[in-house]
Amino acid sequence: MDYRDTPEEAEFRASLRAWLAENIPAGWDKIEDRDEAARMQRAWHRTLYEAGYIGMSWPKEYGGRSLSPMYEAILNEEAGNLNAPRLPSVGYIGRAVFTYGSEEQKKRFLPPLLSGEAQWCQGFSEPEAGSDLASLRTLARLDGDHYVVNGQKMWTSGGQYADWCLLLARTDPDVPKHKGISAFLVSMREPGVTVRPIVLASGEAETCEVFWDDVRIPVAQRLGAPGEGWRIAMTTVAYERGPADIGFIASYRHTLRRVERLAAERGLLERPETRKKLAAAYVRGEVLRLNCMEQLSLRVSGREPGPEGSVAKLLWADAEQSLQHLAMDILGADCMTGAAGEWLGSYFTSRPVSVYGGSAQIQKNIIARMLGLPR
Ligand SMILES: Cc1cc2nc3c(=O)[nH]c(=O)nc-3n(C[C@H](O)[C@H](O)[C@H](O)COP(=O)(O)OP(=O)(O)OC[C@H]3O[C@@H](n4cnc5c(N)ncnc54)[C@H](O)[C@@H]3O)c2cc1C
Repeated sequence: MDYRDTPEEAEFRASLRAWLAENIPAGWDKIEDRDEAARMQRAWHRTLYEAGYIGMSWPKEYGGRSLSPMYEAILNEEAGNLNAPRLPSVGYIGRAVFTYGSEEQKKRFLPPLLSGEAQWCQGFSEPEAGSDLASLRTLARLDGDHYVVNGQKMWTSGGQYADWCLLLARTDPDVPKHKGISAFLVSMREPGVTVRPIVLASGEAETCEVFWDDVRIPVAQRLGAPGEGWRIAMTTVAYERGPADIGFIASYRHTLRRVERLAAERGLLERPETRKKLAAAYVRGEVLRLNCMEQLSLRVSGREPGPEGSVAKLLWADAEQSLQHLAMDILGADCMTGAAGEWLGSYFTSRPVSVYGGSAQIQKNIIARMLGLPR
């Protein structure tokens, strides 16, 4: 694939760049209050949607523009370059609904997902079911035209701000574990849903425990057939990554330049050890970029994302964690104090990158299977 922009893509990139320069909310990255940051994210989603930048690759009949995924990659790249707030990730929930949803579900759930009117979270993991997700124990018992759900979910990111949840629960305990799981589209406002934010080492509460006590879900809100939950979960996870990675690369480079400036300010740029680590960080970014471009070209040619996303996930976690580690090396004890204190928060934020979305060890298992290595 030729990675250069076509004339149409170049024109789109130029008008997008101008639009971003006008519309990125000033001072968004200085907001400290979590609720205010969540409100800013919601407003940002709305602004992007109204300008036609959300769901560009989605079919027109569901509110998209039927454009190639290249346009989303360009949006991610330009937003990352200009240090815009995080772009909303509607793709993976959207993909689950328009692959497995009934026509009625698509009409009901897709437009508010795109517009940002409805925020979603993903209720998959449980205290005893993370890597081994198929052993989840939250139970959904059929009772007339409703399911009654009981159980506990863990690490539900954004659960405290979400309006809806894509929930996995066991509907048949008597069949092999992968086959007894179903997926549900559930309002987080239902009676019986209790959300408890978890404060992480970074000081942020970006994820939650969610308790489900006798929560009633209409049968019409089951996504797909009974027992199809595992397949739906795997589709969702495969689409969590993709063109959005390009945005990560742009913001990675932005951080790398800041780390380089930190080294220069402290007179460490001439130190061979620091130079070697900075060079390695540049190489990691470039390896990740090339990997992303390859995946993007497969996506553009119509191939569904598959297990090769595990390679990108590993490269990404390694790049992000090594870079934040390098910032700690450069700052030494200064990272605990004053203006440099924000780096400690970013360091802690980088630690779970190798855990969420499937841990590094699990990604290695998937790659080993892909390569046909002995088990
Ligand atoms: C910040 C954050 C946000 C998250 N957001 C969400 C979310 O929004 N929704 C959601 O559903 N979940 C979310 N998760 C959960 C995440 O997907 C799980 O934490 C992850 O899958 C690991 O599961 P676990 O925590 O139960 O660890 P475990 O599965 O208990 O793993 C513990 C350790 O054992 C290793 N291990 C386990 N099994 C194997 C194996 N077969 N081979 C080799 N090593 C193995 C793991 O790699 C890990 O190092 C989030 C997690 C974090 C930390």
